[in-house]
Amino acid sequence: MSLKSKVTGLILAGGRGTRMGRVDKGLQPFRGATLASHVLARLSPQVATVAINANRNLPQYQAVAGASPVLPDYLDGFAGPLAGLQVGLQFCPTELLLTAPCDSPFFPADLAERLYAALQAEDADLAMAITMERDPAQADAAPFRQPHPVFSLVKASVLPALEAYLDTGARRMEGFYKTLKVAEVLFDDAAAFSNINTLEDLQHHDRNVSAAPAAPSPAGRAADPAALPVEEAQRLICERITPVEASETLPLLNALDRVLATDIISPINVPAYDNSAMDGYALRGADLPGEGTRNFSVIGIAYAGHPFTQAPQPGECIRIMTGAAIPPGCDTVLPQELAAAIDGDTVTIAHNAIRAGANLRRAGEDLPAGGIAIGAGKLLRPADLGLIASLGIGEVTVKRKLKVAFFSTGDELRSLGEKLEQGCVYDSNRYTLFGMLTRLGCEVIDMGVVRDDPQALETALRTAAHQADAIITSGGVSEGAADYTRDIMALLGDVAFWKLAMRPGRPLAFGKVQSGPDSAWLFGLPGNPVAVMVSFYMFARPALLRMMGSEAKLQTVQARTASNIRKRPGRTEYQRGIVSTAADGAAQVRLTGAQGSGILSSMSEGNCIVVLHHAQGDVAAGQIVDILLFDGLT
Ligand code: AMP
Ligand code: MG
Repeated sequence: MSLKSKVTGLILAGGRGTRMGRVDKGLQPFRGATLASHVLARLSPQVATVAINANRNLPQYQAVAGASPVLPDYLDGFAGPLAGLQVGLQFCPTELLLTAPCDSPFFPADLAERLYAALQAEDADLAMAITMERDPAQADAAPFRQPHPVFSLVKASVLPALEAYLDTGARRMEGFYKTLKVAEVLFDDAAAFSNINTLEDLQHHDRNVSAAPAAPSPAGRAADPAALPVEEAQRLICERITPVEASETLPLLNALDRVLATDIISPINVPAYDNSAMDGYALRGADLPGEGTRNFSVIGIAYAGHPFTQAPQPGECIRIMTGAAIPPGCDTVLPQELAAAIDGDTVTIAHNAIRAGANLRRAGEDLPAGGIAIGAGKLLRPADLGLIASLGIGEVTVKRKLKVAFFSTGDELRSLGEKLEQGCVYDSNRYTLFGMLTRLGCEVIDMGVVRDDPQALETALRTAAHQADAIITSGGVSEGAADYTRDIMALLGDVAFWKLAMRPGRPLAFGKVQSGPDSAWLFGLPGNPVAVMVSFYMFARPALLRMMGSEAKLQTVQARTASNIRKRPGRTEYQRGIVSTAADGAAQVRLTGAQGSGILSSMSEGNCIVVLHHAQGDVAAGQIVDILLFDGLT
């Protein structure tokens, strides 16, 4: 039996990454892949099966792991390597477990073999790598022994001992190892065990290529399995965002497009009294003829605002106008056009003209007094202003406006009024963002174009974090981006860089930027103008609405496609379309032509987005597709 078949690999990715600005280290980009995927590539050839232990960003780790499992810790409130070792041992289907941290992509290709040799020779429970190191500040000092407890080969049978150790409340890996029989294995290449702790380390290693394995190439795979589905990204964002607390009370006319902070309780019945739904005659239903006809004498008139307060006797009725209060004793209104005959003050009614109780609007049937007229979280539209007014309420408490700062990144960008040199483009993203944010009712902070310079980017992000609830940037977040945007975002916050299964708009950065005591949510949108708009609508908009306290969802409707649409399964595509009414009266959509993510005219020309879902393939002309009307995207 080969050694490989006896060993399960465990990548420890459960740390907090504090030295890297609280980013999730294993997901940091390094030579075209995540650090964790480098470790996976190094570990896989040495073991029968691999698992990743992580306690956040699980879907992203799942994307790295492919078919292998991602194991979250369940030691509450403790995320150290021993928690990872525990779940790893519980999972371990083989007799041995080999651990490696997610931030050390350089370890030896024969790590398992050499640790195993010592384990056997010393009949140990665990074999651990050690190196001899020197203090760089004291070149003359003797080298010291450096253990690497996270690089260990351990027998799966130690699990009960580990659980007993954890039960005592102890959490240190070294402490647990003391309870075992440990074989130490000296490796002479200390650099192979070095880890990447800071962004500077990452950049340093990235530039000074050493013995790192080649990045697993995403090219050549069919649909990119590492890409995160749109719904997954939306869910992850939504999970983290919470509504702002603060609210303000405004006169009703200033509350349009704001989000209601508290329920509006109706102080009155609406309508306030039973009233007539028709112009006609109010009477007692019991007086209606069982057969033939019956004559009624009109004893008065009830107008809206001028009630008639006398109850009719049998055979009497009251002329009544729409909205007028139903006179006492009456419970039925005969619409005037249903009278068999009207002769002066006598109205003749046939036995089947109406049923008793008809044509009344009952008090409180629209809104009962004490009931919730409009629930908190509602984005107030014109109808809501009217409804609130109908209750006699003149002021409403709404959530405070969100402050959203935005800027564009890229050295090629020129602002309006500047000369457009060769190779430059006018910054359009700030204008679409301004429009979309303003429509959403945000207080916008336009921070202009920020040069691709670490200092300028850091200053912009810090300023934005001080001033705003959310920051929206465009450009510089794609994997191949040659600029500093990603590095600085990662440095200042807990930011995930996603590769999404969507088109347009593959890259997206999302996380929290921290500057001193202030923080703001960051949405790092791609650079291409259509991708910016689509990613804004799909990710930033729902998140901002959620922060605003609203749960408004985008509503798709259906239309028939006028032509064939090519679509690759495994990603969501948002194509721009023009919807119109076809000859048969049904909604029909055609595409706006070129669909490149830089072709902003497609957004301008189109009146909708054709949403082609993740699993969907080619669509034939005549089939029904989902569309998202731009008119609904306020
Ligand atoms: P990036 O993601 O930064 O590589 O940008 C992708 C593409 O979008 C490049 O062609 C950029 O020139 C373009 N782009 C980035 N930002 C803007 C902007 N604010 N306005 C117009 N085009 C932009
Ligand atoms: Mg750029």
